[in-house]
Amino acid sequence: ELPEINGDFYELHLRLSEEDRAVQLKVREFMEKEIKPLVNNYWLHDDFPHEIIPKFAELNLCGVTYKGYGCPGKSFLMEGIIAMEMARIDSSIATFFGVQSGLAMGSIYMCGSEEQKQEWLPKMQQMQVIGAFGLTEPEVGSGAAGGLTVTAKRTAGGWVLNGQKKWIGNAPFADVTIIWARDTDDGQVKGFLVRKGTPGFNVEKIKGKMALRIVQNGLITLTDCVVEKKDRLQNANSFKDTARVLQMTRAGVAWMAVGCARGAYENALDYTRKRKQFGKPIASFQLIQNHLVEMLSNLTAMQSLVFRLSELQDQGLLRDEHASLAKVFCSLRTRDIVSKAREVMGGNGILLEYDVARFVADAEAIYSYEGTKEINSLIVGRAITGFSAFV
Ligand code: FAD
Repeated sequence: ELPEINGDFYELHLRLSEEDRAVQLKVREFMEKEIKPLVNNYWLHDDFPHEIIPKFAELNLCGVTYKGYGCPGKSFLMEGIIAMEMARIDSSIATFFGVQSGLAMGSIYMCGSEEQKQEWLPKMQQMQVIGAFGLTEPEVGSGAAGGLTVTAKRTAGGWVLNGQKKWIGNAPFADVTIIWARDTDDGQVKGFLVRKGTPGFNVEKIKGKMALRIVQNGLITLTDCVVEKKDRLQNANSFKDTARVLQMTRAGVAWMAVGCARGAYENALDYTRKRKQFGKPIASFQLIQNHLVEMLSNLTAMQSLVFRLSELQDQGLLRDEHASLAKVFCSLRTRDIVSKAREVMGGNGILLEYDVARFVADAEAIYSYEGTKEINSLIVGRAITGFSAFV
């Protein structure tokens, strides 16, 4: 009898509390039963399965680490496990969730006033309101810290926003988008809650992506878009506040990369045990086993790393460079693991119906978003040398 397929080779799940383990299994079941059968078709058609949102909401997973406002105040480890389990089946769904629960709700939780948190977070926790996070611009990606060009001009009643945002996940259907813009008075970056349908707020869906095709990304054009005074994120006063949100979500992206790698490895192992050539399962060949073991070694190292990352986060010890190191290491190794998974599956490795092709493509986006390899490496480089090579 063949051993069970298990990407958690060092049994890290034994370190989870009973509650965390129960959540892990609940998310796994949901992803396998409700999401897996849908994803290849939606991916192919560059579309989002809106019908899953009510079932998703029932899982009660949004804003799992926040305290109050309908959120349960659980650990970052639990949040990481959730991201990994989602990405193990599909990274687009994990990204949709990460934008809602991490970037959008996180901006409000970390930078909103009490009234803003009361107004938005309970509804977002229930997924009655879907959020987006607009930082990147057509001409400003890695250099967002000093380079944002979208402007926010103070008026008597509020603010007027002008400019463009690119790549904004969930934006084509979001009810509220956080727009990060430069205050024309003091030059600092401020955050704004822009409601769907606001005049001067136009979203065009970005078409033709070769990765994370289920995630709907938008090109947003702001043309004299008026935002009321009460909709400025009251505690976002400079890019440092934006960066606090990014530090938290970057740790989640490292977990997501682990999930993507784990899904690819488990698929590949399963395939190689079933596929026969020369009259034998290809998994019995030494060279195939070598690929599988290399994949598993990296996957095991990645999992150990993100477990520790979440412990640091839960102890309030997480620094930018910790999150960056994990994001770089995990997304780089994931690229390698998905590519090996594809390789051991031969021609079928490029067919969508075998799943791994989607993992290969999606790993490319995970590699670049929430800080590219270069930028996250430079954040670590600055921390260990004391010299900034990029600002
Ligand atoms: P650039 O900044 O133009 O970089 C191009 C290359 O130059 C990279 O390799 C980069 O590492 C390198 N480079 C740049 N500066 C340096 C330097 N100083 N030293 C060395 N190398 C350097 N943004 C949002 O705001 N909200 C979202 O919801 C969102 N979702 C996304 C979803 C997807 C699928 C993708 C692909 C992107 C998303 N983004 C989002 C944007 C994402 O965060 C940016 O793509 C990312 O920050 C990189 O910016 P860029 O693409 O403009 O690349």
